[in-house]
Amino acid sequence: MWTRDKGPTPGFVEQARQLTEARAVFGWLRDGSQTVQQQALRDFDQARRNFFAGSHHRPTWRKAGRREGFRIVGPQAGRVEQVSRKWARVLVPKVGWVRFRVSRALPESRSYRITRDRVGRWHIAFAAVPDPIPAPGNGAVVGVDRGVTVSAALSTGELLNCPRLSESERRRLVHLQRRLARAQRGSNRRKRVKAAIAKLHARAADRRKDWVEKTSTDFARRFDVIRVEDLRVPQMTRRPKPKPDPAKAGSYLPNRRRAKAGLNRGILNNGWGLLVQRLEHKAAGRVEKITAAYTSQTCSRCGHCAPGNRENQAFRCQSCGHSDHADLNAAINIAAGRAVSARRDKPVRMSVKREPQLTTST
Ligand SMILES: [Zn+2]
Repeated sequence: MWTRDKGPTPGFVEQARQLTEARAVFGWLRDGSQTVQQQALRDFDQARRNFFAGSHHRPTWRKAGRREGFRIVGPQAGRVEQVSRKWARVLVPKVGWVRFRVSRALPESRSYRITRDRVGRWHIAFAAVPDPIPAPGNGAVVGVDRGVTVSAALSTGELLNCPRLSESERRRLVHLQRRLARAQRGSNRRKRVKAAIAKLHARAADRRKDWVEKTSTDFARRFDVIRVEDLRVPQMTRRPKPKPDPAKAGSYLPNRRRAKAGLNRGILNNGWGLLVQRLEHKAAGRVEKITAAYTSQTCSRCGHCAPGNRENQAFRCQSCGHSDHADLNAAINIAAGRAVSARRDKPVRMSVKREPQLTTST
C-alpha cells in the first residue's frame, strides 16, 4: 500500500498496536485469538522482508482454501498432552481441546502451526529443529545426478526413481481436467471435480515428499560426503522469455514454451530442490555443491569432454570408447568433483527461534 506521497508504511510493531485498537472497537475481531492475529501480522512482516531481500516473490493476498493455517506461540503453545501412544491433544485458543494423531515423538517446542491443505486435511507441526544425522565415518563419497527420466543416479550405480502417479491415476487426472473445463463456473459439479483433482495432486505430492524424506535420510546415513550439482531450480523452471520477431514488430517467434513447461513439470515432479534442501538439513556441512557444467559430456574414465559423447540416455566416449548410462557417468563425475571448483558449503544456519518448515505430513 506504499505510495511516494504517503510516507512510510506501518511495520510489525505499529500494526500490532493498531490491531489492539481495532480489537477494542470491533467485536468480530475480538472473537478471534489475538495471538493468531498477531502471528499473521508477523508472517506478513517476514514475507515483506523476504521480498525486499530479493529471495522471495511479492507477498500475495490470502485466499480461502489455499495455504490456510495459523500459528500459536508463547505459553499458549505449551498446552499439549499425550493421551495415548498414538494420540495427543492440544488446547487451541478459542477452540478448545483438539485431538491429533501423533506421527513422531512430540518435541520440546514453544510454538506450533496448524494448517489445512487444499484437500481439507488438518496438520499440526511443532517448531523444533531436529539434530542432524551423524556421519557414518566410513569416508564414503557419493555423487548424485538428478534428472528427469531417472530422478537420482548415484555414483554407486544405483538409479532411484521418485514415485509418481500411476498410469491409471494419470488417465483419471486428464479425464477430470477435461470435465472441469466443461463444468459451469460456480456449479456444484465443478466444485466436486475440482476437489477430486486436488486430491490426486495431493496424493502425488505426498508420495514425492515421502520419497524425498526417505532418500535424504538414507544418503545422510550411508555417506560421509554427498556431492550434488549446483542447480538453480527456480531459475531453471522459469518460463522462457518471449522471442520478438525481428521481421514484424509486435509479433513473436515460437519460444518452445509448451516444451519448457513439460520439462519444468518433470523437474518439479522429481522434487529436485526439496531433496537437496532436506539433505542440507540432515547432513549439515556434508553436502557439497559442484558446478553442473559439463558433468554430462565428460567421460568419467578418461576425462575427455565433448558434446558428442552423449546420446540421450547413453554415454559413449569418442576418445576411449567407454560407454555407460548417461546419468551414472554424470554421477561419477559429480562424485569426483570434476570439471569444477568445488566449494564446501557451510552448514545451513538456522535460528533456533525460526519455525522449521512443514515438509512431511503429521
Ligand atoms: Zn573416455
